[in-house]
Amino acid sequence: MSQTRTNGSPTGSEGKVAMFNCHVCGHNAAKSELVSEVFNLAGRRVLVEQIPALVCAHCGEAIFSRETTEQIRRLLHGAGHPVKTVPMDVFALA
Ligand SMILES: [Zn+2]
Repeated sequence: MSQTRTNGSPTGSEGKVAMFNCHVCGHNAAKSELVSEVFNLAGRRVLVEQIPALVCAHCGEAIFSRETTEQIRRLLHGAGHPVKTVPMDVFALA
């Protein structure tokens, strides 16, 4: 009577993004870049820098992977600490 335990996890198949489809313009060419993005955190604006994103080659829309989005959420709502505080100018068209 021996029990077989499946204790090994299949080694990394973190797929590279093979398919890209811009949800704004429908273009399918993108390059990976590090971008900055402002997030709204219950009325407080926070800036997150160095986010790995796919940037649409056509319209410049930055798309984050689900993993990255989750990482950002954990950072903002969890134990993340800002690396710095910067003043921000706000413009408005209305
Ligand atoms: Zn696009």
